[in-house]
Amino acid sequence: MDYKKFIKIVDNWPKEGIEFKDITPWMDNGEAFKSAVNEIVDFAKEKDIDIVVGPEARGFIIGCPVSYALGIGFAPVRKEGKLPREVIKVDYGLEYGKNVLTIHKDAIKPGQRVLITDDLLATGGTIEATIKLVEELGGVVVGCAFLIELSYLHGLDKLKDYEVLALVKY
Ligand code: IMP
Repeated sequence: MDYKKFIKIVDNWPKEGIEFKDITPWMDNGEAFKSAVNEIVDFAKEKDIDIVVGPEARGFIIGCPVSYALGIGFAPVRKEGKLPREVIKVDYGLEYGKNVLTIHKDAIKPGQRVLITDDLLATGGTIEATIKLVEELGGVVVGCAFLIELSYLHGLDKLKDYEVLALVKY
């Protein structure tokens, strides 16, 4: 499917100089969203995955239907102060700004095979931070799946050791 027609490009948002890719038209088209989720599920199927992990907030939107389709759980990675129990945390830089991400300490059991999902790979900072959290808990990252990769920001350089799926590239 030609997914690009479902992506709206918004110039200078949320900051001057950023060319934001808005995926909401993709999500609100049932056929296009289902097709994207199915492609990620197919990517995940042979990998014997135990749990899906995604960073807030759009990583949830992609990861939850994938975990549902695979019949496995989903563990959220959230900004500091959002998860109610004991967490581990990591600091990282964004394409625009800085952030701290956290995960519940008991979200992943050592040795569990993890698929990480997010809507978009830009500089790779978010996914690198998410991988750090998973690996600190002893999880094994067996794949990272995105709707979109902004190849001109070279996020893939941070993911050399991992199998990556991106459905659309700019
Ligand atoms: P990175 O950490 O630089 O790779 O940025 C990726 C994160 O920022 C993802 O969690 C995205 O949701 C968000 N993000 C960055 N740029 C865009 C965009 O153009 N559209 C949608 N989300 C974006």
